[in-house]
Amino acid sequence: MFAYGISKEYSLYYLRKGKGASPHIVKYSDGLKDPLIGGVRPFEPLKNFFFFARERVIDGLGRPADPKAGGKPLCVLGVKNCDLAGLNILDSVFSEGDFKDPFYVSKREQNLIIAADCTHAIDTCFCHALGHEHFPQKNHDVLISELRDGYLLESVTWKGKKLLNENSDILADSGEKHIEERDHIRSISGAQVEEGIKKSEIPRQTEYKDVIKKSLESEIWEREAENCVECGGCNVACPTCHCFYLADIQKKAGGETRYKIWDSCMYKRFARVAGNANPRQHLWERLRNRFEKKFDYFPEVNGLYACTGCGRCISGCPAKIDIRRVLKDLVAEKKKAKA
Ligand code: SF4
Ligand code: SF4
Repeated sequence: MFAYGISKEYSLYYLRKGKGASPHIVKYSDGLKDPLIGGVRPFEPLKNFFFFARERVIDGLGRPADPKAGGKPLCVLGVKNCDLAGLNILDSVFSEGDFKDPFYVSKREQNLIIAADCTHAIDTCFCHALGHEHFPQKNHDVLISELRDGYLLESVTWKGKKLLNENSDILADSGEKHIEERDHIRSISGAQVEEGIKKSEIPRQTEYKDVIKKSLESEIWEREAENCVECGGCNVACPTCHCFYLADIQKKAGGETRYKIWDSCMYKRFARVAGNANPRQHLWERLRNRFEKKFDYFPEVNGLYACTGCGRCISGCPAKIDIRRVLKDLVAEKKKAKA
């Protein structure tokens, strides 16, 4: 009923239980099938809805595409905090400062995010190490917490308030006991995140300062790059990675159409410049650059790590490059050099 109401105004996506550890994001049509409100973050990152993998920006006649074009605005239900935190980075790149991307800004303004608490953790979750919680903190319109016998809903923005008002006939008042139950569930799932951090011995964010700067010549980079196949999967899966290139593609009929397409800093041609010079010729240099941007550059320019601890790059990497292991080894090396 609640979902049906949303689907009249929005193009609704929700989390569906998958066969693996992570759910998938699917489109609503004719009811919810195996929906998941709590659980963990889905396989697909939230950025897919705001920063498309491929988006037309200029048509074949040289006219700029309309950033507001398209059907209904989107609503995503069940979004977890590691994805919401990823929006802090995307917002700082695409909607703050001198240059604003009209395509990103328009989607962020129109869309509705219904976020939910994580009710358990999987073995790649390490959001706490990066200073993020396992329940929504910001960038959402409505918060849903799954309880034993129902859900606790809270509006955060005017859009969220409007949605809850419109559905007031199916909602009941909540009380202190519901908040206590929510906090209890949060403490259990939070303990699972902590257990995972302890098991993989990942250092906390307070230990990351200058960790890349101090390890530019480290052998860790070559060791880790050894098995990398340059698939770019770590960038595609990451809720904070945002690099793109512009491509003019000739259509059979009409002129060239310009697209904005996701790029990967792990690709050899990523940093190539005119004259074929390439400052990051070697794969280990590109791997180091990826870490440098996440753990040195972003904290320097806007005080944020460009990693939210979602663990997607760990489960998705065919070379089994584990960002937690790299951070752990880098911090250990820094400490050793200091001693
Ligand atoms: S996902 Fe793994 S193998 Fe693929 S580019 Fe990233 S680090 Fe390399
Ligand atoms: S770097 Fe890896 S763990 Fe960190 S946010 Fe990106 S995909 Fe998640």
